[in-house]
Amino acid sequence: MRLDIGVIKGDGIGPEIVTEAMKVLDKVGEIYQHELSYSQLLLGGASIDAHGIPLTDETVAEAKKCQAVLMGSIGGDAKVSPWYQLEPSKRPEAGLLKIRKELNLFANLRPAILYEELKGACPLKEEITEGGFDMMIMRELTGGLYFGERKTVEEDGVVTAYDSLTYNENEIRRIAKRGFDIAMKRHKKVTSVDKANVLDSSRLWRKTVEEVGADYPEVTLEHMLVDNCAMQLVKDPKQFDVILTENMFGDILSDEASMVTGSIGMLASASLNETKFGLYEPSGGSAPDIAGKGIANPIATILSAAMMLRFSLDLDKEADAIEQAVAQVLKDGYRTGDIMSDGKTLVGTAQMGDLICNRIKR
Ligand code: NAD
Repeated sequence: MRLDIGVIKGDGIGPEIVTEAMKVLDKVGEIYQHELSYSQLLLGGASIDAHGIPLTDETVAEAKKCQAVLMGSIGGDAKVSPWYQLEPSKRPEAGLLKIRKELNLFANLRPAILYEELKGACPLKEEITEGGFDMMIMRELTGGLYFGERKTVEEDGVVTAYDSLTYNENEIRRIAKRGFDIAMKRHKKVTSVDKANVLDSSRLWRKTVEEVGADYPEVTLEHMLVDNCAMQLVKDPKQFDVILTENMFGDILSDEASMVTGSIGMLASASLNETKFGLYEPSGGSAPDIAGKGIANPIATILSAAMMLRFSLDLDKEADAIEQAVAQVLKDGYRTGDIMSDGKTLVGTAQMGDLICNRIKR
């Protein structure tokens, strides 16, 4: 099969970690006989250096021609980088917001996996984390409180600020559908998180998710209030498979879930639109403090590439092969500096990529 993949290497550690993910994808291509074709795209600081702006229309058009885009992180150190002397709309991060909007990426996926081997990095008690956990947070990304009408006014000498939380049923239906589709590829359980005891938008959320769920009889649907979910994530994270939720709740819960997994260098993510297309990237930033040193952890980007194979290209076996290779490398005791612990073998970015490649099997 021919795979057309857009690649945004990005800034800081981006080129180092994306290079390793491409190495792993090439190895998968070789073993499973896929022809990989990469289009190199510029975004963020690299695009400012080349074109004066963080994202060109040509790059957006190129990205749209690809089946999926794999991205490193963008941006630099705001205190020293000349990119941050530019007006806000020309800075690296503006390119990221623009590409998400242009590609209509309304669904954000963040897996939170605790590997048995990295249990030490988890702040929860051992009896809670025994056996590890593996959940997927699906957050609506383009609606809700962050995009609603807002204003600050002075009324009778008192300053009052308003933010509005709005969802329509179509916005809820499309994200719910993606959530159930993803649950079908996993353990077939969706926990829809809302605040339906208080908010109208949550009551519509719950009703619409139930309607969508009726089309997925194999998937178990449960509803949970957001305050309870925040507690359950630290009390019993193993109960979750797919958590489906709106923008602000997802923003907070996904950070909480990722904290309990350990290092930022392990956290993959994806943003999807209504088609199979997605943008896949590590959750961390461009880590200018360690850029160019060959010590960044490439695993989050490699796991993002596995998500790309699974969710945009429907290559589940190939995605499994990458995930198993990562788990095996950790089991064999290899660690980059961010996840290093006593008695383990310290390796750099490229060596970690090689070790994972060597463990990919059919
Ligand atoms: P950061 O995530 O880049 O770094 C935070 C800490 O985590 C640093 O100590 C860094 O060394 C470490 N770290 C991050 N990724 C790592 C990895 N793969 N391996 C080992 N250690 C890793 O956050 P920051 O310093 O606040 O931001 C730096 C730049 O990244 C800023 O310009 C910011 O705007 C940008 N950023 C970009 C994205 C994105 O591209 N989606 C996301 C977040 C931040």
